[in-house]
Amino acid sequence: MALRPTRLNPLFTDITTLAGVGPRIAKLIEKVAGPRLVDLLWHLPSSVIDRRFAPKVGDAPPGRVCTLTVEVLAHNPPPNRNSRLPYKVTCGDGTGRITLTFFHAQKDYLAQTLPVGETRAISGKIEVYDGQRQMAHPDHIVPVSQKEAIQRVEPVYPLTAGLAPKTLAKAVTGAMDKVPDLPEWLDSAQIQRDTWPPWAEALRVAHHPGSEGDLNPNGPARQRLAYDEFLSNQLALALVRAKSRRLSGRPIKGDGTKRKTVVAVLPYTLTGAQQRTLAEIDADMGSDTRMLRLLQGDVGSGKTVVALLAMLSAIEAGGQAALMAPTELLAQQHFQTLEPLCQGCGVSIAFLSGRIKGKAREEVLADIASGSTHILVGTHALFQKDVAFDDLMLAVVDEQHRFGVHQRLELAQKGRAVDMLVMTATPIPRTLTLTAYGDMDASRLDEKPAGRKPIDTRLVNLERLSETIGAAQRAIKSGAKVYWVCPLVEESEVSDLAAAEDRHKHLSQILGESVVALVHGRMKGPEKDAAMASFGSTEPDSPKVLVATTVIEVGVDVPLATVMVVEHAERFGLAQLHQLRGRIGRSDKPSTCLLLYQAPLTETATARLNILRETDDGFLIAEEDLKLRGGGEVLGTRQSGLPEFRLADLAIHGDLLLMARDDTKLILEKDSDLKTVRGEALRTLLYLFEQDAAIQTLRSG
Ligand code: ADP
Ligand code: MG
Repeated sequence: MALRPTRLNPLFTDITTLAGVGPRIAKLIEKVAGPRLVDLLWHLPSSVIDRRFAPKVGDAPPGRVCTLTVEVLAHNPPPNRNSRLPYKVTCGDGTGRITLTFFHAQKDYLAQTLPVGETRAISGKIEVYDGQRQMAHPDHIVPVSQKEAIQRVEPVYPLTAGLAPKTLAKAVTGAMDKVPDLPEWLDSAQIQRDTWPPWAEALRVAHHPGSEGDLNPNGPARQRLAYDEFLSNQLALALVRAKSRRLSGRPIKGDGTKRKTVVAVLPYTLTGAQQRTLAEIDADMGSDTRMLRLLQGDVGSGKTVVALLAMLSAIEAGGQAALMAPTELLAQQHFQTLEPLCQGCGVSIAFLSGRIKGKAREEVLADIASGSTHILVGTHALFQKDVAFDDLMLAVVDEQHRFGVHQRLELAQKGRAVDMLVMTATPIPRTLTLTAYGDMDASRLDEKPAGRKPIDTRLVNLERLSETIGAAQRAIKSGAKVYWVCPLVEESEVSDLAAAEDRHKHLSQILGESVVALVHGRMKGPEKDAAMASFGSTEPDSPKVLVATTVIEVGVDVPLATVMVVEHAERFGLAQLHQLRGRIGRSDKPSTCLLLYQAPLTETATARLNILRETDDGFLIAEEDLKLRGGGEVLGTRQSGLPEFRLADLAIHGDLLLMARDDTKLILEKDSDLKTVRGEALRTLLYLFEQDAAIQTLRSG
């Protein structure tokens, strides 16, 4: 980001430039906050300790944090060799005495910090032991001249093991000292109405709260910070979108012939939601602005056929279409679904991924360039440089949340005014949709295709594992296939894998070697596909159980699978569990989902899992999950690609997000290139929140 305003540069330097932060400390700080100064600014305190209360020793109430001024009277080391007993230092003032206790004490250090006969200011919680006042490991011990510095409301930051509160606090202070004066990017009327402080002042209040009340996320300082973050997000999305709109659109209208042919051979009729969505897409494509539409539909809601029918319009109009999926497997599955339908209506369809190389690849590319291939299905290989279309009219992106905003733009640039349809199977609450896509047009497939059997979802204590295996065995005997999903271990892909491998071994011993297959994220693509394909096969000796890590989460279709077991369901996000569950219930036989949990469950965890038992409506599940857990965690995984907010909390600040959306609209109506004085300030805001894609848009005009 070469053009970043220079006054922001200090904030984007490494934390190791701070006094007292060496490589070891830096690693710890990086773990909780991040590697740069700006990350420390965004690392807000989670609570406070009020050290303003400074009574005499004789008045210091047990259980309360006090800041005392005391004379050091005597040192009492523990009797020799008994290092389990504390080192004691007796202190006092005219009104009483207090014993400071230190376990595993370093004598020299104590002799230095608490010399007998000197006066010191100390702060910590008063306890009573054997009828005597004491303080175990005071939080602060300073010369009296520094008393004022500790007698205050102290912010408490989220920490990690090995990182001392003081060390982190000092680093934050160091970062705060580098906060530059920045031009105001908010509208003055709005600041006045909400009595929000300027940005730097808001940060100061957030990091030096004057009281517990200043931690209130709806206090003016925190609101302001949250709003700035939302505004940068909304502005960035709107800029990217405005750019793709400026590449002006052209009306695309099919004559409906190919579409009619395909609809006639489908073994079902389109649901009302599918028809409504298609009408919305047709209207967008038929207009002379570019389409940018989000198609949200639960797993199994039938997005693929909607995408196909939309693509057929483009082909009827004489153009081409592309369908991009996030994984090789999904792309192949789409291709296999679409190929026979395309053949039936005289449309030529091709497949492209990174695995197609050499001559085969050249042929595919040549046919796309000449226009003899109408539909290209594939992975992100579709937007590589050498892929040139004759006339790409419509790009469909499946499971969009795995792709970044700029990838979407790149595909859009592969044609003149390409219309975009973005499909996601993750039901995202409206507020989250807004943060991920901005004010994008959205269609929802909120109606399940007819004939779907509801899935019987049950919560099962992990202790009943062997009964669960028995149930799986019975299901297999009756011809079913079983997904067995292994626990998600947040921090390590390696331990995910170990858990899955162990379970695979265990189940193989009980059910038989050839009965159980394994698939996980560390497998190479072809290996993974082979495992999935053999599980999906209807051959009598094909595997009946697929032990998997969450790689099967997205999109895979095996109708015979009617049982799903999820181990440690409490560790998954609800939306993720819902998506997993969507892998079953795809046949005319009833399906069962067993959510194995580790007892005891917290109240919230129980409530969350019960939502799954009670409803199959992905949108409802997502909304409830947002309420219970807060935005960042809804999807359960960091790799979800949804923006994460450091200062704003979607569960709390949802109304601010809507304000930011409206503000963004007004800003860009008046100043679409951010050229006014306020516009310049808003650019600074974008840099501050590292909205690279948006800034590139502005730079490339
Ligand atoms: P999604 O991609 O939304 O998860 P798919 O497009 O893969 O869902 O559709 C799931 C299954 O439902 C497919 O087997 C598809 O043929 C079928 N399907 C789609 N639309 C309908 C419909 N209107 N009625 C019955 N089945 C349908
Ligand atoms: Mg799909």
